[in-house]
Amino acid sequence: MTAKVLRYGSEQLEGLPEAFSELLKRATDEVSSGRESSWAKAVSEFNERVPDMSFTSLLVLPWLFDFRYRRSTGEAIARFLEGLKDARIIGTNCESCGRVFIPPRSFCEICFKRVRTFIEHNGFGEVATYSVAHIGTNPKEKLPRPEVVAVIWFEGTKVTRPNSNYVFHAGGLMHRLGEVEPSEVSIGMRVRPVWRSREQRRGDITDILYFAPVR
Ligand SMILES: [Zn+2]
Repeated sequence: MTAKVLRYGSEQLEGLPEAFSELLKRATDEVSSGRESSWAKAVSEFNERVPDMSFTSLLVLPWLFDFRYRRSTGEAIARFLEGLKDARIIGTNCESCGRVFIPPRSFCEICFKRVRTFIEHNGFGEVATYSVAHIGTNPKEKLPRPEVVAVIWFEGTKVTRPNSNYVFHAGGLMHRLGEVEPSEVSIGMRVRPVWRSREQRRGDITDILYFAPVR
């Protein structure tokens, strides 16, 4: 029984950002030095248990797997997505503790109660945290322009504890920022949603094109 490691060839690494190709090379080396023996052992055990099938090689694949998932939304997120179609941001409000959930949730884990009150929010919020992305979902491609991805906390949803900067709760979304240069973005920046046209909206989070600064 042997386990064979296929190394990344120069043509596969070509065109990748340098830091990323270094990471791949290192990962391949780790597999070939340390983990190869444990893989070989696992393969050998598998082959003993399932004689009709046999593995002979460990392949380290240089491409991304494309997994697609389908899940049901539940009532709260269904209403949120329906709202997006009409350029409305829908949340829920726990009447017991007063917290506002955006996206909506149907259960308050603090009060241990079902949340039934739906509210509509004006969409204004603040940048809670952000990151400037130079590489998209395909690590081989550098984005033509860097994208700013931010967590948006909606106005009136932030709850802090007395005498502490700790944010106890904030209803928020992760989304793109637009109409702003990465160097201009700051934590706490006030933003508003920019919507697709009515004909293009389909009840999807991308019905919001991005959040733009309120100037
Ligand atoms: Zn509550």
